Amino acid sequence: MARARSEEKLAIEGGRPVRRTFLPYGHQSIDEEDIQAVVRVLQSDWITTGPKVVEFEEAFTGRVDAKHAVAFSSGTAALHGAAYAAGLQPGDEAITTPMTFCATANCILYQGATPVFADVTADTLNINPEDVASRITEKTKAIIPVDYAGHPADLDPIRELAEERNLIVIEDACHALGAGYKGKQVGGICDMTVFSFHPVKHITTGEGGMVTTDDADMAARLRLFRNHGIEGDARQRQAKGQWYYEMVDLGYNYRLTDIGCALGQSQLKKLDQNLSRRREIAACYNAALKDIHGIILPTVKKEALPAWHLYPIRFDQSSFRAGRTEIFAALRAENIGVNVHYIPVHTHPFYQKRFGYHGNEYPVAQAAYETLISLPMFHGMTDQDAENVIDATEKVFGHYA
Ligand SMILES: *Cc1c(COP(=O)(O)O)cnc(C)c1O
Repeated sequence: MARARSEEKLAIEGGRPVRRTFLPYGHQSIDEEDIQAVVRVLQSDWITTGPKVVEFEEAFTGRVDAKHAVAFSSGTAALHGAAYAAGLQPGDEAITTPMTFCATANCILYQGATPVFADVTADTLNINPEDVASRITEKTKAIIPVDYAGHPADLDPIRELAEERNLIVIEDACHALGAGYKGKQVGGICDMTVFSFHPVKHITTGEGGMVTTDDADMAARLRLFRNHGIEGDARQRQAKGQWYYEMVDLGYNYRLTDIGCALGQSQLKKLDQNLSRRREIAACYNAALKDIHGIILPTVKKEALPAWHLYPIRFDQSSFRAGRTEIFAALRAENIGVNVHYIPVHTHPFYQKRFGYHGNEYPVAQAAYETLISLPMFHGMTDQDAENVIDATEKVFGHYA
């Protein structure tokens, strides 16, 4: 039998690292079919705002079970579009989670509205509907839950609250393309759902994003917003031989190119296989790591089918001789590209300065943050990569136990 991993010398103390090359926490997979799809667009007449945008949007609606999909130049632009389409404006408030990437809260500020944070639950680290309820005021216009790590937020209680108080729910599903909630696809559940196609996400367009909705008016507002606030599109005008257009509201250039959409369309065909690979890796981690005393693995609730964008573990501080800083550095020295998701948004200097947060307002998120470590999780990982992650985790946590 192999020597127990925990007896080996840590790489950070001069021992041999578990792997020779660095394994990132996330990475895209691009195959020959993807490359050819992009090349064909480069050789065609339309490299932006052409036929590929519509084709990608239509394929996307089919995949997530929504009536409309509107492509954006990034997930952040898509969030901004959704905040606009929800009617957020100065004087309004929107409630979101501190356990997210800062773009989720920033999109509220882009519209001149005020972000209000609600704490998360200790199990999934998703926004706590009871805390959301306690923070609703006359000014609240929207709730923006995040499907943290790819595990859908507690969507039904959130939607019930929204219905009672006439609020719009924008689901930030940038982690959750392909996730399920009570048998439904994420993307067709809330008023609007936002996705990202950044390279670490489930499919990529380089930079890119999408908003899905069943509401035709919201879809129209989203299309207006991504194109300078101009009605109709240039391709329609060209086809009809027209020059006249009207700018009816202040919008942006948030269009996704045909180059990106062709890549997205090709990538979307691989979503199911990407998801099953991520689920396989999660199952492998779950089985191997559940017996390490003091490690807290991600919770999966029975109503949820997670998409596993991340695999965040936590640990019980009292079970180890080292804190997150040392454990993190030790795992990195083993060439395992661990990361931390997330620094609670309200603790960033900008938010502290603007809103006077001290960093102890959301105790559950804050306590979770202290020990969070994301293990590598992406669909291109080999079995050997996953084994390396498990070996390094056993080695490092075993050493500090
Ligand atoms: C990736 C991400 C975004 C931003 O998406 P970009 O495409 O990088 O702009 C927003 N929210 C969450 C939760 C994300 O993970």
